[in-house]
Amino acid sequence: MSEKNFQIAIDGPSGAGKSTVAKAIAKKLNIEYIDTGAMYRALGLKMLNLGIPMEDGPQLHKLLEETEIDFQNGEIMLDGQVVSHLIRTPEVSMAASDCSAFPCVRKQLVAAQQKMGESKSVIMDGRDICSVVFPDAQHKYYITATDEERARRRYKELIEKGENTTFEETLAAIRERDYNDSHRAASPLKKADDAVELDTTDMTIEEVVEYICSRV
Ligand code: C5P
Repeated sequence: MSEKNFQIAIDGPSGAGKSTVAKAIAKKLNIEYIDTGAMYRALGLKMLNLGIPMEDGPQLHKLLEETEIDFQNGEIMLDGQVVSHLIRTPEVSMAASDCSAFPCVRKQLVAAQQKMGESKSVIMDGRDICSVVFPDAQHKYYITATDEERARRRYKELIEKGENTTFEETLAAIRERDYNDSHRAASPLKKADDAVELDTTDMTIEEVVEYICSRV
């Protein structure tokens, strides 16, 4: 990696605003944003489409060998097709969380993510970026907010997209995913010791972006 390249690693639970913040910072600093959650979502989408049960480890191994997940012009590609518009439903969110618990899935996607951040400056968000993907990143943040506030933000997003759901369902799904992501054996969601924690419950997106940019 060139001396001038740097990585900004952002972790945190669902709906904390990581991707909105990361996108804005990428634009401001003119670096690439890599949404690692979209990669797990693409795989979850494929499993749902093929009707492969999440507990079927051997099928998942085989599926991984036959699956290509990549980004092109900011769009997430699954086996050569743009799937960005298909991966934000509550079903795909849960499928992503379920399949991300498998060590074989993490191994493959983490290797791809490390390669993406090897030769250029990037900002990457997820659950294990500070701890596993880029433990030596120059800038590490753990972005969080109360579960009610995260559910409020996610519910607003879903309603704007025309999803048929309630606030209570959204809150329950956020809590279920938090539990899943922080209790799995493989790279559970956890703040890295050297990551700066930012509770964004009472912060605007602009304030978070400003806070991080002023330190880069
Ligand atoms: O960030 P997003 O909500 O899109 O991620 C979807 C799911 O993918 C998460 O709930 C988590 O289970 C998984 N994920 C992960 N590691 C990452 C990014 C996402 O396990 N680096």
